[in-house]
Amino acid sequence: MRLIVGIISLLVALFAAIIFLLPEPEGFPILEYHQVTDEKLDPDFEVYNVPPEEFSAQLDFLQAEGYTTITLQDFMRAVHGKATLPDKPIVLTFDDGYTDNYSTMLPILEAHKMTAVVYVITNEVGKSGYLTLDQLKDMQRRGIEIGSHTSDHLPLTSLDAETQLTQIRDSKRFLEWSGLSTIYSLSYPNGAFNEEIMEILRSEQYLTAVTGDAGLNTLETNPYELYRVHIRKPRFGLNEFKFRLLKAKFFAKLRNIF
Ligand SMILES: [Zn+2]
Repeated sequence: MRLIVGIISLLVALFAAIIFLLPEPEGFPILEYHQVTDEKLDPDFEVYNVPPEEFSAQLDFLQAEGYTTITLQDFMRAVHGKATLPDKPIVLTFDDGYTDNYSTMLPILEAHKMTAVVYVITNEVGKSGYLTLDQLKDMQRRGIEIGSHTSDHLPLTSLDAETQLTQIRDSKRFLEWSGLSTIYSLSYPNGAFNEEIMEILRSEQYLTAVTGDAGLNTLETNPYELYRVHIRKPRFGLNEFKFRLLKAKFFAKLRNIF
């Protein structure tokens, strides 16, 4: 037994050393946030709430590290050679479309002269706790990219093809027909996707989609399979945030091997 534990520990250490020694992976991170709030909500969801002062400290850190925030439309312009990416790009994304994205997150973001992408569940728009259409339009005017998180936040892989299509198409139409400019990006509910779903996105004129899989992104990454690293409510302050950025890098290295 002790021998097996010893061998396993040795293998883990060897693997860690190999990962450590691999060259720095190419690519930029996309961060996945939900709420920026101090409110004590449902304890099951509290892990998704980053307190405003922690969020502000994270943006200070990114700025100090020389990162420049871009939207996924900026990314696609670069993919098509119509723009160049800044030296150290990063994308900040916010899932579900909560009210605090407007009342709390946006002022902190603007104080740092940064931008973001906000993905809304369109059947929740205007309901208690969720962004209204006026807030979404104002955010778009202020340079925030608005994307779809589908109509009802059902994991797409669990649905039949017809429902997949309506969830993807109707959420985009709802936003555009309500006066927002074209919606180009989607966030997969629960990170669930497959080839058929990507094909629907292509035919419905989406240009990008973000997953829940950790990693880094380059101009060569499949734009319907962009990697994101989840930023939870930190228990260990800024160090935990730095650790999450390292996690993206670590997974990018792993992907380079396999
Ligand atoms: Zn979500």
